[in-house]
Amino acid sequence: DDTGKRIDGKAFAAALRTRVGAATADLERRHGVRPGLAVVLVGEDPASQVYVRNKRKQAEEAGMASFHHTLPEATTEADLLALVERLNQDPAVHGILVQLPLPGHIRAERILLAIDPAKDVDGFHPVNAGRLASGMEALVPCTPLGCLMLLKDRLGKLDGLEAVVLGRSNIVGKPMAQLLLGANATVTVAHSRTRDLPAVARRADILVAAVGRPRMVGAEWLKPGATVIDVGINRIPDDRPDAEPGKTRLVGDVDYESALPVVGAITPVPGGVGPMTIAVLLRNTLIACARQRGLTLDL
Ligand code: NDP
Repeated sequence: DDTGKRIDGKAFAAALRTRVGAATADLERRHGVRPGLAVVLVGEDPASQVYVRNKRKQAEEAGMASFHHTLPEATTEADLLALVERLNQDPAVHGILVQLPLPGHIRAERILLAIDPAKDVDGFHPVNAGRLASGMEALVPCTPLGCLMLLKDRLGKLDGLEAVVLGRSNIVGKPMAQLLLGANATVTVAHSRTRDLPAVARRADILVAAVGRPRMVGAEWLKPGATVIDVGINRIPDDRPDAEPGKTRLVGDVDYESALPVVGAITPVPGGVGPMTIAVLLRNTLIACARQRGLTLDL
């Protein structure tokens, strides 16, 4: 039984979407502007199609305008750059999201660099990464910002806490470390070359796992009472006794069942960090829209 220990990201995300929806309606009523999110999908990756559909649907549910651009797999880099440039210039578009991964013949870096940093609601442009690292106002990557919101909601102030981030990607690990540092935690970033990962993890009052290895983090990696944020989304064969043969299921980077007796609090997979990502994307779109109009919002 995980009552009291489970961090309910699904419920938190729903509440955040409601707040964003209310602020969106308010913005439109008072200033006559409707936040617009453009989502660009190149190719037919099935997982990306699901993500993109959910992003559009939830943007519309929050009262935003959503602009959908589906391009064929064979789209050239030049064509995609031209679309990004059009969206940069379009006053109805306040946020631009190019779904990753892109087909191999397109250099993702070139595309990310072309997005207007003011419209970069994924927060992947180096200008936004640099602004975050410098403690300036920035658009912050959605997944790590969602993790920080869950941590603050659970723990209040993070001052002086030992935080360990497993993973150093530009999308999750690095911005997560910057956010924790900004919140006055003492931060260690571990990765595939780290020696004695379990010993490093055991120092953590806050452990964020963003590695992509199913159930890698076991009970012996955890300090008793630690708050654990599991970012991993891994599909594995369903090995539970009552599962139909051939079925798969999602698990995190943390072995939830064995971690539960040790931790103070933990996010489940699914239903933890995952739902936060799109809710924060909507929040970023709203904030980008307000800033482009010279308004400030507090969310
Ligand atoms: P990446 O593959 O880009 O990065 C993984 C990181 O983990 C790297 O820094 C890598 O180290 C490190 N790593 C890999 N294997 C090990 C290991 N055995 N021991 C220690 N470190 C290791 O992944 P992402 O950051 O994009 O995503 C991480 C996970 O989070 C994935 O499961 C992904 O599906 C999930 N995710 C979930 C999201 C959500 O909405 N909830 C959003 C984004 C991602 P090195 O740098 O040395 O190679």
